[in-house]
Amino acid sequence: MSTPLIGVLALQGDVREHLIALAAADAVARPVRRAEELAEVDALVIPGGESTTMSKLALNFGVMDPLRERVAAGMPVYGTCAGMIMLADKILDGRDYQETVGGIDMTVRRNAFGRQNESFETAIPFQGLEGEPVNGVFIRAPWVESVGAGVEVLAEVPAADGPDSRIVAVRQGNLLATSFHPELTGDHRVHAYFVRMVEAAAQ
Ligand code: GLN
Repeated sequence: MSTPLIGVLALQGDVREHLIALAAADAVARPVRRAEELAEVDALVIPGGESTTMSKLALNFGVMDPLRERVAAGMPVYGTCAGMIMLADKILDGRDYQETVGGIDMTVRRNAFGRQNESFETAIPFQGLEGEPVNGVFIRAPWVESVGAGVEVLAEVPAADGPDSRIVAVRQGNLLATSFHPELTGDHRVHAYFVRMVEAAAQ
């Protein structure tokens, strides 16, 4: 079997950092902007950035529906921060025009931590990763407000108010999402975890 090709959705956001992190996790990766480019990849990363802008550009570039079709067909996708918002079936505090790709049965609140804390870093135990907790870098980050029965919670952080903790990483089937940005830390274990998901899906 040939090495799977992983795209990074390059409409807006921290595309380069994901390309570097994927290469460090021994994956072959390239930017994806158009539907034809999406058709060529086996999996996709949706980067951090601004989900409202990303939503508009995905609609303008004609990749929103092709993305939804690929997700429905089982393509592995990893979304960080704005990318997590893009993978949510439901969002809170979005804009009226804002659409998501969807696929993960969860409700995500945009800029949720932003109200308490514009950005912060914290050590987070991550289900399925060996060794040290990951360093979670949060930048005007969303949290997952609720998940459906089929969604596996991979990481949570203690909450400043409300419930005891907030969900910040989830997986449903071939879809993975984190509120935080492992691509900014130099620790490539979450990308390596996704690469293993991609390889398993390609079997
Ligand atoms: N607040 C941004 C949004 O709504 C996400 C921030 C990020 O990706 N770092 O899309």
